[in-house]
Amino acid sequence: SLNGKTAVITGSNSGIGLGVAWELARAGADVVLNSFTDRDEDHALAEEIAKATGTSARYIKADMSKGDECRALVEKAGACDILVNNAGIQHVAAIDEFPVEKWDAIIAINMSSAFHTTAAALPLMRKAGWGRVVNIASAHGLRASPFKSAYVTAKHGVVGMTKVVALETAREPITANAICPGYVLTPLVEAQIPNTAKEYNIPEAEAIEKVILAKQPSKEFVTVEQLGGMVLFLCSEAAAQITGTTLSADGGWTAS
Ligand code: NAD
Repeated sequence: SLNGKTAVITGSNSGIGLGVAWELARAGADVVLNSFTDRDEDHALAEEIAKATGTSARYIKADMSKGDECRALVEKAGACDILVNNAGIQHVAAIDEFPVEKWDAIIAINMSSAFHTTAAALPLMRKAGWGRVVNIASAHGLRASPFKSAYVTAKHGVVGMTKVVALETAREPITANAICPGYVLTPLVEAQIPNTAKEYNIPEAEAIEKVILAKQPSKEFVTVEQLGGMVLFLCSEAAAQITGTTLSADGGWTAS
């Protein structure tokens, strides 16, 4: 059980981050939810998790595009035994037309935020004598697709950073790994279905199978519960010697 452990999950008011937070709380961890929005609904999510699991879930506002706020998130949490770097955004455009502000935002939120939170969390993990850094990268941390230059760059960067953190903590009871999901049916992906169906002039079910899941041989979405289970595994004793590596959950995408 993760009783007594504090888990900070960046970008966790929806999708994968929220799913991972639920799984960690069900396993007994005190979770810290985060986003930049600070709405009543965000705080209500933490209350809902606390009530359902009997843990002390909290919401802390911090904008992951800003280095000082990334560090402040971990500092405000007070403890950070498990750090899940999950916050991320996407933008799709050809590289010669890619908006510079989108490039900067994706590099900051999807990559640099993990640098800042990890820097702030390692001293707390060392003080506690145990720690887990889990970076939610992507199949795009291992493979490329056209029109996703910033995203692919950031996710490859996160995979590289994961290896460095693992080497710097190799002699300590701390591990650092990256989970590389294929497509997960979150708000981020759901939003693309109607547009894709319209663009290709095909039904939504066909758009899912032939376009969105084109690269995913299983033709099934990964679920947030499955990803939560993978984070739990990385927190378990069985995974104590797994460090500096990637774990794929992509229905076979990176097999070819
Ligand atoms: P999502 O849009 O549902 O969630 C993104 C989360 O990031 C939200 O909680 C949002 O509030 C938060 N966020 C965005 N900008 C932020 C900022 N500036 N500061 C703080 N929080 C911010 O998307 P998701 O699909 O759950 O994606 C979560 C992570 O998983 C991302 O890193 C994404 O790249 C990765 N991922 C997603 C898929 C997929 O198919 N959905 C596949 C592989 C990897």
